[in-house]
Amino acid sequence: MMSLFPRLVFDCVQYRNNVKKVAAYCAHVEIGIFVVTKVFRAFRPLVEAIQDLDIEGIADSRLENLEHVSDIPIQKLLLRLPMPSEAERVVAIADISLNSEWETLVKLNEAAERLSKRHAVILMMEMGDLREGMDNAQFEWILNRLYLLKNIDFIGIGANFSCYGGIMATPEKLKSLAAYKARFKQAAGVENPIISGGNSSSLYLVEKEDMPAEINNLRLGEALILGRETAFGNHIFDLSDSLVSLDVELIEIKVKPSYPIGIMTYDAFGEKPQIEDRGMITRGILAIGQQDVDLKGLIPYDENIEILGGSSDHLIVEIKAGDYKVGDIVRFRVNYSALLRLSTSPYVQKRFEHLVTSVSI
Ligand SMILES: *Cc1c(COP(=O)(O)O)cnc(C)c1O
Repeated sequence: MMSLFPRLVFDCVQYRNNVKKVAAYCAHVEIGIFVVTKVFRAFRPLVEAIQDLDIEGIADSRLENLEHVSDIPIQKLLLRLPMPSEAERVVAIADISLNSEWETLVKLNEAAERLSKRHAVILMMEMGDLREGMDNAQFEWILNRLYLLKNIDFIGIGANFSCYGGIMATPEKLKSLAAYKARFKQAAGVENPIISGGNSSSLYLVEKEDMPAEINNLRLGEALILGRETAFGNHIFDLSDSLVSLDVELIEIKVKPSYPIGIMTYDAFGEKPQIEDRGMITRGILAIGQQDVDLKGLIPYDENIEILGGSSDHLIVEIKAGDYKVGDIVRFRVNYSALLRLSTSPYVQKRFEHLVTSVSI
């Protein structure tokens, strides 16, 4: 039997509305979207809530996430470059993968042949953020050998921004990506290739109507679930930014000093505590910890609650006002890294609301 709390709550109807709105704005400038599901492990109720919308498909960095929704009839894209050792599973589970390595493409081609299945590939170009992607010479090398990979459909090119290097997607960067289009079309023999211009950090260009015309695809995760574009963190397209919340239970509430008493050495993570002395305060302990969430990524809804710190299994807050008692539930907003860890923690209950009936998993 699982505990009721901590509980991560998703509003499936608001999620659907966000995806629908963004898909419509993007369709207006002839951009198709893949809905990126990795931050919530492709939870079934959320995938089911959007499966019939006008989207290209879902995209995830983990095969396991795509696999557990494999019976949902929607196109599936693997975002992280495949491990060569898992080529056969990639072809079996994903319809499309992002690639930049010849050796891996050879393995995918062999796997597709074995499984009598075609596999589609988008080639990733390095545009300065310095995660995955090829330079022009590597691109040319691969393009000259596409004919050797008879079981692969090369459907387009793409790039990634704001992931490792924090390099922004700008019209200039995206035009440099689009400059590879003509050569790709010629080599792959595709009339209308996908030119995939990045993630949620590219969305501001759609809003500003500044997206280069050649870009016809985006892969969007964070903006859809947290309701903000990620280049500037701005609210966009009137999306809901409160469809995910976290409920945590109070297990102690006492008036104690704000400054620890005794000889100060290190905290649970080997760091020297930096603590301000503000006299006596009301302190609450909530039943969640670093094991379940990035505590720095939690924002209390009640502004009378301030996070002081925490350890593996405890979150310590100051309660500045309000009528709180042990057993009460405190609600938080979450940022991306908090949501990622909460989604993967087996200690956190998941609840999906506003379906025909709400479900917990
Ligand atoms: C995670 C990821 C995305 C989606 O990023 P968001 O910032 O969540 O929109 C897109 N493309 C790739 C390759 C990714 O790994």
